[in-house]
Amino acid sequence: MSVQKKGWRDLPTGGLILEAGSSHTYKTGGWRTYRPVHNPQKCINCLACWIYCPDSSVIVTDGKFVGFDLDHCKGCGVCAYECPKKVRAITMTEEAEEAKD
Ligand code: SF4
Ligand code: SF4
Repeated sequence: MSVQKKGWRDLPTGGLILEAGSSHTYKTGGWRTYRPVHNPQKCINCLACWIYCPDSSVIVTDGKFVGFDLDHCKGCGVCAYECPKKVRAITMTEEAEEAKD
């Protein structure tokens, strides 16, 4: 897929983002170094990961954790940090290792 790149004259003054919701088309998962991996056996569905994820990349359905949106997860590790210490249902793994599978 070819991406149409803009020249500097095409950018809005001040770098403003004029189109609402445009971040959805920018797949930040493409430059992720670490990937969150979920352990459903340990998860208690407290949804702390969903609350704290800065990229809205924790997918929840009917009040339960169902997965990560890996197109937009940038691998910051906040979800793993906020998962309760007694549970530790999310571990961060190297993206390169996960991509081999
Ligand atoms: S690693 Fe960061 S961006 Fe990815 S799901 Fe966890 S909190 Fe969200
Ligand atoms: S924070 Fe941990 S225990 Fe809570 S829903 Fe997320 S993965 Fe499950």
